[in-house]
Amino acid sequence: MKNYIDGLWCESRTGRTFQNINPARTADVIGEFPLSDAADVADAVQAAANQYTTWRLLPAPKRGDILRRAGDIFSERREELARIMTREMGKTLVETRGDIQEAIDTAYYAATETRRLFGYTAPSELPNKMNLSFRTPIGVCGIITAWNFPIAVPSWKILPALACGNTVVFKPSDDSPHSANIFAEILRDAGLPEGVFNVVHGTAEAGSALVSHPLVKVIGFTGSTTTGKAIASHCGELNKKVSLEMGGKNAQIVMDDADLQLALNGVLWGAFGTTGQRCTATSRLILHEGIHDRFLSMLTDAASKLVLGDGTMESTQVGPIVNQRQLDKILSYIDIGKTEADCILGGERDVSGEKQGGYFVKPTIFTNVKPEHRIFQEEIFGPVLSVAKAVSLEHAIALANDSSYGLSSSIYTRNVDAAFRAIRDVEAGITYINAPTIGAEAHMPFGGIKGTGNGHREGGWTVFDIFTEWKTVYVDYSGHLQRAQIDNSSE
Ligand code: NAD
Repeated sequence: MKNYIDGLWCESRTGRTFQNINPARTADVIGEFPLSDAADVADAVQAAANQYTTWRLLPAPKRGDILRRAGDIFSERREELARIMTREMGKTLVETRGDIQEAIDTAYYAATETRRLFGYTAPSELPNKMNLSFRTPIGVCGIITAWNFPIAVPSWKILPALACGNTVVFKPSDDSPHSANIFAEILRDAGLPEGVFNVVHGTAEAGSALVSHPLVKVIGFTGSTTTGKAIASHCGELNKKVSLEMGGKNAQIVMDDADLQLALNGVLWGAFGTTGQRCTATSRLILHEGIHDRFLSMLTDAASKLVLGDGTMESTQVGPIVNQRQLDKILSYIDIGKTEADCILGGERDVSGEKQGGYFVKPTIFTNVKPEHRIFQEEIFGPVLSVAKAVSLEHAIALANDSSYGLSSSIYTRNVDAAFRAIRDVEAGITYINAPTIGAEAHMPFGGIKGTGNGHREGGWTVFDIFTEWKTVYVDYSGHLQRAQIDNSSE
């Protein structure tokens, strides 16, 4: 399998490759992909830069027509693509189908937005003069993403970037390269001109070359906070626009008046869906002391029944960990957790039956977790839930806020006052009331504060701020020189 540059499938100039394997059955090799370097990136960027001159001039609604067709093709290829995605990164088919639905929603949303890339007009302070402003594309966008949403997350960036008239070079995660190639096929089949969208496979080397390339004007990144900060500092030196979607340590609060069954369903899905490998996963559970013991027993009972296995099996509820590195990281955090708190469920790898051929970790719950514990503070990115006890709403919110991250949050309560206090006081980009920490919709802003982001929001109308610049225009039809701030001064 190859890079996609200027409409052609090509090998890396390096001749090097990397293997993509199925994390549920590591003997299943999906393919060899190009391990690209700066020369491959330069080819792709040059193709994208060449095409920018014409793509940006195509009327935006015509660009929207192509995106709408892409949405149709994502829909037609949903089942095939869901299986490809599950095979390469492990999450269940129910979830990979949902991943594609997000791309479909984003495609249609971006398509309609091409008729609504509104600017502003405002009165001039001078006579016979008109002021207006509108969005302009920026140029070549470098898109770098993680593996846990192989289609949805790239779609949040790539489709709005194209809608605005930019061209794109995409460096997907080396854990989900096959899905990226299908993404390219779909855009090609939707009628996107060659060179407007390019895929360069590889690791940090290719990603870093994309960030450095002088013709790349914007970087859209999703991944870990460590990588994101390094990219941001590089972009700072280069004076390059960068949008960062990074890690999370999301808390679900359950108050003593909550619907406990609803809260249970929420935390099971939030903590163990996608095997906990979501930026918005519930990794901290904050229980009011009034329901703490009862809820914990409901939770351990339900979590112990979750079915682990190959995500392509319809019966599977929790799939594998994506790769050996992540497996090792999760197991080392479990070891740390055992020295800090009480492990009441899981706490080990699952090698039973066919699972011995993959990277499986049992759903794991720690109780008596304190804010100073590493398992309370650090992103584990696996099926590991840290439970803390709160004595009041204020205490619960303070615990939720005791984090360097600020992506998602949730509170279960029937008390409207408590819900509104949480909406106001929880430090996070997203707050759910009586719903889990996961469940973003394509037409709403998505992103986080503190260590999670750098002030931008993908999704909704806000993503268009990332992929456009504002042009302000003054039209003076007075026929003589007018000097703002001088001719109209009061003196
Ligand atoms: P990662 O940071 O290791 O890699 C992300 C991407 O960056 C990959 O494509 C990688 O090849 C590339 N990369 C690595 N080093 C680079 C460098 N120096 N320069 C340029 N590119 C580089 O993250 P990961 O392990 O793939 O993904 C897991 C992380 O992603 C978690 O922290 C998770 O919270 C985060 N994530 C965040 C969101 C969000 O929207 N906030 C969504 C999904 C995942």
